[in-house]
Amino acid sequence: MKVKAYAAKSAGAKLEPIEFEMDAPELNEIIIKVTHCGICHTDIHYIDNDWEETEYPFIPGHEVVGIVDEVGSDVSDFQKEDVVGLGWQIGNCRECAACTKGLENCCVNMEDGYSTCVGRPGGFAEYIKVPTDYVFHLPKDIDSASIAPMMCGGITTYNPFKLYEVKPGMKVGVVGIGGLGHFAIKFAKGMGCEVYAFSSSPEKEEETKKIGADYFVTDISDENLTRKLYFIISTVPADIDWNRYIEILSPGGTLAVVGVANNISIEAGPLIMEEKRIGGGSIGSRERIKEMLTFVNEKNINTEYELFPIDNVNGAIEKIKSGKIRYRAVLDLSTI
Ligand code: NAP
Ligand code: ZN
Ligand code: ZN
Repeated sequence: MKVKAYAAKSAGAKLEPIEFEMDAPELNEIIIKVTHCGICHTDIHYIDNDWEETEYPFIPGHEVVGIVDEVGSDVSDFQKEDVVGLGWQIGNCRECAACTKGLENCCVNMEDGYSTCVGRPGGFAEYIKVPTDYVFHLPKDIDSASIAPMMCGGITTYNPFKLYEVKPGMKVGVVGIGGLGHFAIKFAKGMGCEVYAFSSSPEKEEETKKIGADYFVTDISDENLTRKLYFIISTVPADIDWNRYIEILSPGGTLAVVGVANNISIEAGPLIMEEKRIGGGSIGSRERIKEMLTFVNEKNINTEYELFPIDNVNGAIEKIKSGKIRYRAVLDLSTI
């Protein structure tokens, strides 16, 4: 069948409507009619070819919620009309250094066909066809636009809290209050932490406090912050003052980097003398995603989103790039 989608045809180009041919699903695949798709900053990195690996035309989209439309003949756990979610990962190689250690979300061969929109058409489309391994059942009455961004932005911030063993009552920092950052604030609050939001946008203070931040910081040089926080998560898609954030960590604390920075240059002294750690985080395993979906349901956590019809996808991207989005742009695919 012919499928309508939106694609960038060259680096940094505006997205344009295109059509492509989609064959019937293979044995273990399903075709999902996309209802909503979040716009993650990773889509923008790819549109802009920031990592010099984008193949054009590029159809972005990896925060998908939709309705199962067709199932392959070996598929038994999904049926037509099921409501489902899908994030960055659609499979793993099962053989690499990560997969053989149980770190499926860190599969080093992710870009050889295991990520939703790299080397294959993503979710800014009428339909998406994927194997079922990383597709998640969702309740039929779910707010699809709210759940879609959790499939990547949500899990990417939920996972480090577990990886780095953040506990209730701890003081934690979230750097960069965008799509990922606003989830980190809500999750930290939901886990019973004291939350410090670090932002370069003073106008976000009131809203950021409304969604759960106890403190809003624009001046990181404030001496009162030194050695204060056990855990800091950076969601900024750029380099920040890494050494100052290491100073803000309490002894034994961890700085987790999930925003795609360029070059993390830090002094070794505080890592050695105060046993501070720096680590990363890459989406999350299937079990973690299920755990997150249960957590957001129990804690009644939703996404702060702005809905855009798909034909205004370029307006949505502009709003993200100008820092004006609050806090995730979600595309409504029903009008494609
Ligand atoms: P976003 O919605 O655009 O938010 C980024 C936030 O960072 C902005 O709202 C802004 O917050 C802050 N910021 C500070 N300096 C900035 C700069 N120079 N350029 C842009 N923003 C700046 O992006 P997102 O969707 O949350 O994604 C954030 C990063 O995470 C991206 O690099 C993305 O590729 C990455 N990511 C990683 C994974 C993973 O698995 N590790 C998964 C998903 C996304 P303030 O106004 O509060 O300063
Ligand atoms: Zn993403
Ligand atoms: Zn692998």
